[in-house]
Amino acid sequence: MKRVFNFSAGPAVLPEEVLKEASEEMLDYQGSGMSVMEMSHRSKYFENILNDAIADLRDVMNIPDNYKVIFVQGGASLQFAAVPMNLMKNKKADYILTGQFSTKAYKEACMFGDIKVLASSKDKNFTYIPDCSDLDVRDDADYVYICENNTIYGTKFKELPNTKGKPLVSDQSSCFLSEPVDVSKYGVIYAGVQKNVGPAGLVILIIREDLISDNFQFITPTMLKWKTQVDNNSLYNTPNSYAIYICGKVFKWIKKMGGLEQMKKRNLEKAKILYDYLDNSKLFKCNVCKKDRSMMNVCFTTNNEELDALFVNEAKNYDIVNIKGHRSVGGMRASIYNAMPIEGVKRLVEFMEKFEREHNL
Ligand SMILES: *Cc1c(COP(=O)(O)O)cnc(C)c1O
Repeated sequence: MKRVFNFSAGPAVLPEEVLKEASEEMLDYQGSGMSVMEMSHRSKYFENILNDAIADLRDVMNIPDNYKVIFVQGGASLQFAAVPMNLMKNKKADYILTGQFSTKAYKEACMFGDIKVLASSKDKNFTYIPDCSDLDVRDDADYVYICENNTIYGTKFKELPNTKGKPLVSDQSSCFLSEPVDVSKYGVIYAGVQKNVGPAGLVILIIREDLISDNFQFITPTMLKWKTQVDNNSLYNTPNSYAIYICGKVFKWIKKMGGLEQMKKRNLEKAKILYDYLDNSKLFKCNVCKKDRSMMNVCFTTNNEELDALFVNEAKNYDIVNIKGHRSVGGMRASIYNAMPIEGVKRLVEFMEKFEREHNL
Protein backbone atom coordinates (compact mmCIF):
# COMPACT_ATOMS: atom_id res chain seq x y z
CA MET A 1 0.00 0.00 0.00
CA LYS A 2 1.22 3.47 -0.87
CA ARG A 3 -0.34 6.79 0.11
CA VAL A 4 0.50 9.86 -2.00
CA PHE A 5 0.39 13.54 -1.10
CA ASN A 6 -2.97 14.42 -2.60
CA PHE A 7 -3.33 18.15 -3.22
CA SER A 8 -6.76 17.82 -4.83
CA ALA A 9 -9.23 20.67 -4.30
CA GLY A 10 -12.04 18.17 -3.76
CA PRO A 11 -12.85 15.42 -3.15
CA ALA A 12 -9.74 15.75 -1.09
CA VAL A 13 -7.38 14.20 1.41
CA LEU A 14 -8.88 12.86 4.65
CA PRO A 15 -7.07 12.06 7.90
CA GLU A 16 -5.38 8.68 7.58
CA GLU A 17 -6.47 7.77 11.11
CA VAL A 18 -10.09 8.26 10.14
CA LEU A 19 -9.76 6.12 7.04
CA LYS A 20 -8.05 3.37 9.02
CA GLU A 21 -10.74 3.38 11.67
CA ALA A 22 -13.44 3.27 9.03
CA SER A 23 -11.72 0.36 7.32
CA GLU A 24 -11.51 -1.55 10.60
CA GLU A 25 -15.23 -1.01 11.08
CA MET A 26 -16.13 -1.74 7.47
CA LEU A 27 -17.45 -5.28 7.93
CA ASP A 28 -18.73 -5.05 11.48
CA TYR A 29 -19.57 -1.70 13.01
CA GLN A 30 -19.27 -2.01 16.79
CA GLY A 31 -20.76 -5.49 16.99
CA SER A 32 -23.70 -4.74 14.73
CA GLY A 33 -22.46 -7.39 12.28
CA MET A 34 -22.77 -4.98 9.39
CA SER A 35 -21.23 -1.93 7.77
CA VAL A 36 -22.64 1.55 8.49
CA MET A 37 -23.43 1.58 4.75
CA GLU A 38 -25.75 -1.38 5.22
CA MET A 39 -27.66 -0.37 8.32
CA SER A 40 -31.03 1.29 8.67
CA HIS A 41 -30.84 5.04 9.09
CA ARG A 42 -33.52 4.57 11.75
CA SER A 43 -31.45 2.09 13.76
CA LYS A 44 -30.12 2.88 17.22
CA TYR A 45 -26.58 2.59 15.84
CA PHE A 46 -27.13 5.23 13.22
CA GLU A 47 -29.16 7.46 15.51
CA ASN A 48 -26.11 7.58 17.79
CA ILE A 49 -23.75 8.25 14.88
CA LEU A 50 -25.92 11.16 13.72
CA ASN A 51 -26.52 12.68 17.13
CA ASP A 52 -22.84 12.36 18.10
CA ALA A 53 -21.81 14.01 14.84
CA ILE A 54 -24.12 16.96 15.47
CA ALA A 55 -23.06 17.27 19.11
CA ASP A 56 -19.35 17.12 18.20
CA LEU A 57 -19.75 19.70 15.44
CA ARG A 58 -21.63 22.03 17.81
CA ASP A 59 -18.84 21.58 20.31
CA VAL A 60 -15.97 22.06 17.83
CA MET A 61 -17.51 25.20 16.31
CA ASN A 62 -19.05 26.48 19.52
CA ILE A 63 -22.40 26.83 17.74
CA PRO A 64 -24.88 28.95 19.75
CA ASP A 65 -28.18 27.34 20.83
CA ASN A 66 -30.23 29.47 18.47
CA TYR A 67 -28.65 27.80 15.42
CA LYS A 68 -29.78 24.51 13.89
CA VAL A 69 -27.46 22.00 12.21
CA ILE A 70 -28.71 19.86 9.34
CA PHE A 71 -27.17 17.44 6.84
CA VAL A 72 -28.55 17.55 3.31
CA GLN A 73 -27.67 16.14 -0.10
CA GLY A 74 -27.24 17.51 -3.59
CA GLY A 75 -23.86 19.13 -3.08
CA ALA A 76 -23.16 22.75 -2.30
CA SER A 77 -24.48 23.64 -5.75
CA LEU A 78 -28.07 22.71 -4.87
CA GLN A 79 -27.93 25.28 -2.08
CA PHE A 80 -27.40 27.98 -4.72
CA ALA A 81 -31.16 27.59 -5.32
CA ALA A 82 -32.15 26.56 -1.80
CA VAL A 83 -30.72 29.77 -0.31
CA PRO A 84 -33.05 32.16 -2.17
CA MET A 85 -35.97 29.74 -1.88
CA ASN A 86 -35.64 29.57 1.89
CA LEU A 87 -34.62 33.13 2.69
CA MET A 88 -36.49 35.38 0.30
CA LYS A 89 -39.41 37.29 1.75
CA ASN A 90 -38.96 40.48 -0.28
CA LYS A 91 -37.49 38.63 -3.27
CA LYS A 92 -34.40 40.80 -3.02
CA ALA A 93 -30.88 39.75 -2.16
CA ASP A 94 -27.41 41.26 -2.46
CA TYR A 95 -24.42 39.23 -3.66
CA ILE A 96 -20.66 39.73 -3.56
CA LEU A 97 -18.94 38.04 -6.49
CA THR A 98 -15.44 36.75 -5.81
CA GLY A 99 -15.24 33.76 -8.15
CA GLN A 100 -17.02 31.02 -10.02
CA PHE A 101 -19.01 29.60 -7.14
CA SER A 102 -20.46 32.92 -6.00
CA THR A 103 -21.20 33.76 -9.64
CA LYS A 104 -23.05 30.48 -10.07
CA ALA A 105 -24.96 31.15 -6.86
CA TYR A 106 -25.80 34.64 -8.12
CA LYS A 107 -27.07 33.33 -11.46
CA GLU A 108 -29.22 30.75 -9.71
CA ALA A 109 -30.66 33.36 -7.34
CA CYS A 110 -31.55 35.58 -10.31
CA MET A 111 -34.21 33.00 -11.24
CA PHE A 112 -35.98 33.79 -7.99
CA GLY A 113 -35.82 37.52 -7.46
CA ASP A 114 -34.15 40.85 -7.84
CA ILE A 115 -30.48 40.29 -7.16
CA LYS A 116 -27.97 43.09 -6.82
CA VAL A 117 -24.22 42.67 -7.21
CA LEU A 118 -22.81 44.63 -4.28
CA ALA A 119 -19.17 44.15 -5.24
CA SER A 120 -17.10 42.01 -7.58
CA SER A 121 -13.45 41.21 -8.22
CA LYS A 122 -14.04 39.99 -11.76
CA ASP A 123 -12.09 42.96 -13.17
CA LYS A 124 -8.84 41.28 -12.07
CA ASN A 125 -9.87 37.67 -12.67
CA PHE A 126 -10.93 37.26 -9.03
CA THR A 127 -7.38 37.61 -7.66
CA TYR A 128 -8.53 39.73 -4.71
CA ILE A 129 -11.40 40.33 -2.29
CA PRO A 130 -13.13 43.69 -2.71
CA ASP A 131 -13.40 46.14 0.16
CA CYS A 132 -16.70 45.24 1.82
CA SER A 133 -16.63 47.59 4.77
CA ASP A 134 -19.24 50.04 3.46
CA LEU A 135 -21.33 48.55 0.69
CA ASP A 136 -24.65 49.79 -0.60
CA VAL A 137 -26.73 47.01 0.97
CA ARG A 138 -30.38 47.55 0.16
CA ASP A 139 -32.72 48.27 3.07
CA ASP A 140 -35.12 45.56 1.96
CA ALA A 141 -32.54 42.93 0.96
CA ASP A 142 -33.36 39.56 2.50
CA TYR A 143 -29.69 38.64 2.92
CA VAL A 144 -26.12 39.30 1.78
CA TYR A 145 -24.28 36.40 0.14
CA ILE A 146 -20.59 35.51 -0.02
CA CYS A 147 -18.35 32.60 -0.89
CA GLU A 148 -15.89 32.88 1.96
CA ASN A 149 -12.95 30.93 0.53
CA ASN A 150 -12.55 30.87 -3.22
CA THR A 151 -11.35 27.38 -3.99
CA ILE A 152 -10.46 28.06 -7.62
CA TYR A 153 -8.69 31.41 -7.21
CA GLY A 154 -7.05 30.97 -3.80
CA THR A 155 -8.59 33.98 -2.07
CA LYS A 156 -10.36 34.27 1.27
CA PHE A 157 -12.41 36.90 3.10
CA LYS A 158 -10.18 37.81 6.06
CA GLU A 159 -12.89 40.14 7.33
CA LEU A 160 -16.59 39.53 6.89
CA PRO A 161 -18.52 42.16 4.92
CA ASN A 162 -20.47 44.81 6.74
CA THR A 163 -24.00 43.64 5.88
CA LYS A 164 -25.68 46.63 7.55
CA GLY A 165 -27.64 44.28 9.77
CA LYS A 166 -28.83 41.90 7.02
CA PRO A 167 -28.25 38.16 7.54
CA LEU A 168 -24.97 36.98 6.07
CA VAL A 169 -25.09 33.75 4.06
CA SER A 170 -21.68 32.16 3.59
CA ASP A 171 -20.56 29.29 1.40
CA GLN A 172 -17.71 27.93 3.51
CA SER A 173 -17.19 24.73 1.51
CA SER A 174 -13.42 25.04 1.18
CA CYS A 175 -12.61 26.64 4.54
CA PHE A 176 -15.10 24.86 6.81
CA LEU A 177 -13.44 23.85 10.11
CA SER A 178 -10.06 25.23 9.02
CA GLU A 179 -10.08 27.83 11.81
CA PRO A 180 -12.39 29.14 14.53
CA VAL A 181 -15.34 31.25 13.34
CA ASP A 182 -17.84 33.31 15.30
CA VAL A 183 -21.04 31.59 14.16
CA SER A 184 -23.18 34.36 15.66
CA LYS A 185 -21.99 36.71 12.90
CA TYR A 186 -23.76 34.63 10.26
CA GLY A 187 -27.34 33.98 9.29
CA VAL A 188 -26.47 30.79 7.43
CA ILE A 189 -23.21 28.88 6.99
CA TYR A 190 -23.14 26.00 4.57
CA ALA A 191 -20.44 23.71 3.26
CA GLY A 192 -20.12 20.82 0.87
CA VAL A 193 -18.04 18.43 2.94
CA GLN A 194 -15.78 16.97 0.23
CA LYS A 195 -13.22 19.77 0.56
CA ASN A 196 -12.23 19.61 4.19
CA VAL A 197 -14.39 17.11 6.02
CA GLY A 198 -15.67 14.01 4.27
CA PRO A 199 -17.05 12.21 1.22
CA ALA A 200 -18.70 14.15 -1.63
CA GLY A 201 -22.44 14.67 -1.83
CA LEU A 202 -23.12 15.74 1.73
CA VAL A 203 -23.72 19.34 2.77
CA ILE A 204 -23.76 20.74 6.29
CA LEU A 205 -25.97 23.73 7.05
CA ILE A 206 -25.86 25.88 10.17
CA ILE A 207 -28.93 28.10 10.21
CA ARG A 208 -30.05 30.79 12.64
CA GLU A 209 -33.40 29.70 13.99
CA ASP A 210 -35.37 32.80 13.03
CA LEU A 211 -34.40 32.27 9.37
CA ILE A 212 -36.03 28.85 9.20
CA SER A 213 -39.30 29.58 7.52
CA ASP A 214 -42.37 27.69 6.44
CA ASN A 215 -43.71 30.68 4.61
CA PHE A 216 -42.47 30.34 1.04
CA GLN A 217 -42.71 32.82 -1.83
CA PHE A 218 -42.09 30.07 -4.36
CA ILE A 219 -43.22 26.55 -5.12
CA THR A 220 -40.44 24.92 -3.11
CA PRO A 221 -39.92 21.16 -3.20
CA THR A 222 -40.23 19.58 0.24
CA MET A 223 -36.64 18.37 0.03
CA LEU A 224 -35.35 21.89 -0.59
CA LYS A 225 -37.06 23.36 2.44
CA TRP A 226 -34.51 23.53 5.25
CA LYS A 227 -37.42 23.29 7.69
CA THR A 228 -38.16 19.77 6.46
CA GLN A 229 -34.76 18.50 7.64
CA VAL A 230 -34.72 20.71 10.75
CA ASP A 231 -38.06 19.26 11.90
CA ASN A 232 -36.88 15.72 11.18
CA ASN A 233 -33.32 15.92 12.57
CA SER A 234 -31.99 15.37 9.00
CA LEU A 235 -33.96 12.13 8.75
CA TYR A 236 -36.92 13.18 6.59
CA ASN A 237 -35.66 10.73 4.00
CA THR A 238 -32.64 8.43 3.85
CA PRO A 239 -29.64 10.65 4.51
CA ASN A 240 -26.13 10.14 3.11
CA SER A 241 -25.51 7.98 6.15
CA TYR A 242 -22.00 6.79 5.37
CA ALA A 243 -20.80 10.34 4.70
CA ILE A 244 -22.30 11.51 8.00
CA TYR A 245 -20.45 8.68 9.75
CA ILE A 246 -17.11 9.75 8.22
CA CYS A 247 -17.75 13.41 9.04
CA GLY A 248 -18.48 12.41 12.62
CA LYS A 249 -15.09 10.72 12.79
CA VAL A 250 -13.40 13.81 11.35
CA PHE A 251 -15.07 16.01 14.00
CA LYS A 252 -13.68 13.70 16.68
CA TRP A 253 -10.26 13.81 15.00
CA ILE A 254 -10.33 17.63 15.09
CA LYS A 255 -11.22 17.55 18.79
CA LYS A 256 -8.40 15.13 19.48
CA MET A 257 -5.97 17.33 17.56
CA GLY A 258 -6.85 20.25 19.83
CA GLY A 259 -9.84 21.83 18.11
CA LEU A 260 -10.09 24.67 15.64
CA GLU A 261 -7.45 26.88 17.28
CA GLN A 262 -4.97 24.08 16.71
CA MET A 263 -6.24 23.49 13.16
CA LYS A 264 -5.66 27.15 12.39
CA LYS A 265 -2.16 27.01 13.82
CA ARG A 266 -1.28 23.97 11.70
CA ASN A 267 -2.91 25.43 8.60
CA LEU A 268 -1.13 28.77 8.99
CA GLU A 269 2.17 27.00 9.40
CA LYS A 270 1.64 24.95 6.24
CA ALA A 271 0.46 27.94 4.19
CA LYS A 272 3.40 30.05 5.39
CA ILE A 273 5.93 27.50 4.16
CA LEU A 274 4.45 27.63 0.67
CA TYR A 275 3.80 31.37 0.44
CA ASP A 276 7.23 32.24 1.87
CA TYR A 277 8.81 30.09 -0.78
CA LEU A 278 6.64 31.61 -3.52
CA ASP A 279 7.47 35.16 -2.42
CA ASN A 280 11.19 34.44 -2.79
CA SER A 281 11.06 32.31 -5.88
CA LYS A 282 12.30 33.63 -9.21
CA LEU A 283 10.43 30.98 -11.17
CA PHE A 284 7.11 30.53 -9.39
CA LYS A 285 4.66 33.34 -8.75
CA CYS A 286 1.50 33.63 -6.73
CA ASN A 287 -0.75 36.13 -8.49
CA VAL A 288 -3.19 36.52 -5.62
CA CYS A 289 -3.35 39.80 -3.66
CA LYS A 290 -1.22 39.16 -0.58
CA LYS A 291 -3.71 40.19 2.09
CA ASP A 292 -6.47 38.04 0.58
CA ARG A 293 -4.54 34.79 0.22
CA SER A 294 -6.32 31.58 1.12
CA MET A 295 -4.88 29.32 3.79
CA MET A 296 -6.48 26.30 2.07
CA ASN A 297 -5.92 26.70 -1.67
CA VAL A 298 -2.56 28.05 -2.79
CA CYS A 299 -2.43 29.01 -6.48
CA PHE A 300 0.85 29.58 -8.31
CA THR A 301 2.35 29.52 -11.78
CA THR A 302 5.60 29.86 -13.70
CA ASN A 303 3.69 32.05 -16.18
CA ASN A 304 4.73 29.52 -18.83
CA GLU A 305 2.15 26.92 -19.79
CA GLU A 306 4.67 24.35 -20.93
CA LEU A 307 6.72 24.60 -17.76
CA ASP A 308 3.55 24.39 -15.66
CA ALA A 309 2.55 21.20 -17.45
CA LEU A 310 6.02 19.75 -16.98
CA PHE A 311 5.90 20.60 -13.28
CA VAL A 312 2.55 18.90 -12.80
CA ASN A 313 3.80 15.84 -14.61
CA GLU A 314 7.17 15.52 -12.87
CA ALA A 315 5.57 16.11 -9.46
CA LYS A 316 4.00 12.67 -9.71
CA ASN A 317 7.46 11.13 -9.38
CA TYR A 318 7.59 12.66 -5.91
CA ASP A 319 4.15 11.35 -4.97
CA ILE A 320 2.71 14.84 -5.36
CA VAL A 321 -0.60 14.48 -7.18
CA ASN A 322 -3.59 16.62 -8.22
CA ILE A 323 -1.52 19.79 -8.21
CA LYS A 324 -2.85 21.16 -11.50
CA GLY A 325 -4.73 24.44 -11.26
CA HIS A 326 -8.40 24.77 -12.17
CA ARG A 327 -8.92 24.89 -15.93
CA SER A 328 -10.22 28.46 -15.77
CA VAL A 329 -7.07 29.76 -14.05
CA GLY A 330 -4.30 27.46 -15.26
CA GLY A 331 -1.02 27.02 -13.42
CA MET A 332 -0.91 25.01 -10.24
CA ARG A 333 -3.01 24.81 -7.11
CA ALA A 334 -2.01 23.14 -3.88
CA SER A 335 -5.05 22.47 -1.70
CA ILE A 336 -3.67 22.04 1.78
CA TYR A 337 -6.74 21.20 3.81
CA ASN A 338 -6.75 20.13 7.47
CA ALA A 339 -5.74 16.56 6.67
CA MET A 340 -2.72 17.46 4.52
CA PRO A 341 0.28 16.70 6.71
CA ILE A 342 3.05 19.29 6.97
CA GLU A 343 5.38 16.71 5.38
CA GLY A 344 3.32 17.00 2.19
CA VAL A 345 3.88 20.74 2.02
CA LYS A 346 7.59 20.34 2.77
CA ARG A 347 7.88 17.70 0.04
CA LEU A 348 6.15 20.05 -2.41
CA VAL A 349 8.51 22.93 -1.61
CA GLU A 350 11.54 20.64 -1.93
CA PHE A 351 10.34 19.60 -5.35
CA MET A 352 9.69 23.23 -6.32
CA GLU A 353 13.24 24.16 -5.28
CA LYS A 354 14.65 21.34 -7.36
CA PHE A 355 12.47 22.25 -10.33
CA GLU A 356 13.50 25.89 -10.02
CA ARG A 357 17.20 25.02 -10.01
CA GLU A 358 16.71 22.97 -13.15
CA HIS A 359 14.50 25.39 -15.08
CA ASN A 360 15.29 28.92 -14.02
CA LEU A 361 17.19 30.45 -16.87
C1 LIG B 1 -16.61 22.73 -4.50
C2 LIG B 1 -17.36 23.94 -4.14
C3 LIG B 1 -18.73 24.09 -4.44
C4 LIG B 1 -19.50 23.05 -5.24
O1 LIG B 1 -19.69 21.92 -4.50
P1 LIG B 1 -20.53 20.67 -5.09
O2 LIG B 1 -20.64 19.78 -3.90
O3 LIG B 1 -19.72 20.11 -6.22
O4 LIG B 1 -21.83 21.21 -5.55
C5 LIG B 1 -19.37 25.23 -4.03
N1 LIG B 1 -18.71 26.19 -3.36
C6 LIG B 1 -17.40 26.08 -3.05
C7 LIG B 1 -16.74 27.18 -2.30
C8 LIG B 1 -16.69 24.96 -3.43
O5 LIG B 1 -15.39 24.88 -3.14
